[in-house]
Parts: sequence; C-alpha cells; structure tokens
Amino acid sequence: MELMMLGTGSASSIQFYNACFALKKNQEYMLVDGGGGIHILEQLRKAEIPPSSIHNIFVTHNHIDHIIGIIWLIRKIALAMMSGEYKEDVHIYASSITTDAIRTIAKLILNKRQSDYLDDKIQLISVENREQVSILGENFIFYDVYAKKEVQYGFYLKTLSGQILVCNGDEPLDEKNYDLVENADFLIHEAFCLDSEKDVKRPYEKGHITAKDVCEMATKLNVKNLILYHIKDEDLNHREDRYLQENKPYFSGNLYVPNDLDSISLECKVKTK
Ligand SMILES: [Zn+2]
Repeated sequence: MELMMLGTGSASSIQFYNACFALKKNQEYMLVDGGGGIHILEQLRKAEIPPSSIHNIFVTHNHIDHIIGIIWLIRKIALAMMSGEYKEDVHIYASSITTDAIRTIAKLILNKRQSDYLDDKIQLISVENREQVSILGENFIFYDVYAKKEVQYGFYLKTLSGQILVCNGDEPLDEKNYDLVENADFLIHEAFCLDSEKDVKRPYEKGHITAKDVCEMATKLNVKNLILYHIKDEDLNHREDRYLQENKPYFSGNLYVPNDLDSISLECKVKTK
C-alpha cells in the first residue's frame, strides 16, 4: 500500500492544502478527509487519482478544513453517476455526528438531483468507537480520539502484509489510545508548530501540540515511522528541513515531514512528486 499526501497544512494554511491523504492499493484508493474546498479536485488531479477510483472515504470530523472538500467530491461523484461514468456505490465512513453534518450540508448546498444520491448510491455509514470495517480488502479499526473540541475519529490499520498504520486525525494522541499506537510501524499525527515557535503560535490553547511533543511521545511508544502533518506553517521551501533539524534528536525512528503530493510507501520509501 502507498500513502499519498494530498494536503499537509492546518486549517488556516494557504501555501499548503489542508491535511488529507489517500491510501492506494492496486488501482483503488481510500480517501481520508477532503480538505477545505474545491481544491481537493485539483490535488486529486495532480496526484493522478481519478475520482472514479475512489469508492471509500473516511472523514475524521466535521471541521471546515476536513469536510467541505468532501461536499465538492460528492458533487463530482454525483455528476459522474448521472452521466454513467461512475457505476458503483461510494461509502463514506465517519462518526454519526459527522455523517449527519455531511448529509445536512450537502442537502442545503447541492442541487436536489445531486443530493438525492445520498443514502442511496452515496452511502453515509456511521461507525462506532473501535468498530472494525473491511475496506480495500484490509481491516480498519475506527476509533474515538477523545478530542477536546469536536468528536473526532482516527483509524488503525494492520495490513495483510503485517504493517501497522495509525492515523490520529488532527488532535493529540490520548493516553487511552496508546494501546493502538504502541509498536506501530507508521503513525500519522498532527504537529501544529515547532517547539521553538510555541510562544508565538500557542498550540496548546488551540488543542494542538508541537512537533517535539509528538516525537517524544512516538519514541516512548516505540513507533518506527512518524509522519507529521496538519502543520501551521507557510514557508513552502524550508518547512521539511526546519522540522527535521529541530526534531530528529527527539525521535529515534524515521521522521517524515512530507509536502503536499509526496507519497510514502508502507515499505518506507518516499517519493517526491
Ligand atoms: Zn484540522
């Protein structure tokens, strides 16, 4: 499997698209979050992911930087269903709060012919804490991240080849979920800013933590590969270097600070688009 980063920025990022990614297996994709707008369609185009190859979507929570791109994708898929280009159903997994939000927003702002596909060929599927679901032939466990703000879910995946990938959405990992992350091969985790920037960017007030905090926690839990995203940073050229330089001492495994459209093989090879 391959992890394709479509966006790596935080909610207010402009230089980077909002945090979202796709998991690729063979020629099929599972999308995780949609970012904050129509730009999701451009990111998919640049990543050479045809929307007709996405039949499974997971939405972590209903904040603007994760959910609005999903509404644009629903519109795109509904139009393709009308024209006969998209034949199968699409499954959108999320907590019941988020599936309700997607349904309400889509019905308010899409035209009726498009929104009529909701709960029909566009299936909104509510998941419970620690519910196991088979997607792309792999076993995903969706879990409550115990977010301080809005209800948010992450996922745990143990691939058929034995690699463990955990995505905790855009909230700090809660101790109640340490059992899922301990010894994970890959952890995808938010990092709001550098430790050296915390007095200016104030991550803790916003329910986020610094890259150093994440690195120390991942070291303690024996994570092998740590992928930082959802970063509040506008310096397009030097972000990766600055994050690696400051944080390498705090994490003993492989640290990744991917840019938008980078992909990471679950066999640990990074490709820059
Ligand atoms: Zn966010």
